[in-house]
Amino acid sequence: MDNEVVDIGGRSVVGVLPPARSRKLAKVPFVELADGRLQGVVSSGSDPARVYVSTVAAKTHALTCATNNNRPCGGLGGYPCKHLQSLMDEAVLQYGIERVARYLRVTVPPEAAKGSDLRSYMEFTRGSAPTSVVFSRFLRYLAYLELPAAADPVPEMHWFPATGAGR
Ligand SMILES: [Zn+2]
Repeated sequence: MDNEVVDIGGRSVVGVLPPARSRKLAKVPFVELADGRLQGVVSSGSDPARVYVSTVAAKTHALTCATNNNRPCGGLGGYPCKHLQSLMDEAVLQYGIERVARYLRVTVPPEAAKGSDLRSYMEFTRGSAPTSVVFSRFLRYLAYLELPAAADPVPEMHWFPATGAGR
């Protein structure tokens, strides 16, 4: 899907981003622990029409960051770029540091201070991630957000175990 860039009051924004979110969510509109990765979508600091797809692999802690058009992030070296730092901070806010650490297999010593930085316990490598796969998960997530609050079952949720019994 192409990003539809719309013009609102002279400022271009990516049309797929939901409006009127809090500042933090606007910066990291999508974060999830899935497919063996911490992955998500991070707004560009400088260009409101651009987003980055950033991922950290569990176990290897391999990092990837690229625009949704698959241009590599210029800020990514052997250490997380600012997009990955935002993604990780947001993940800790959303899931809590224990869950993120467990998922990524980061060993945080028990004596570590609460609120300490997960990154200081990780050794990073560079990886390659399916940017388009992550980005389409983001688009699907947005589609769910835009679903009306009612009624009809969502076909893609058919696998979700029905509550109650009988069959
Ligand atoms: Zn980046």
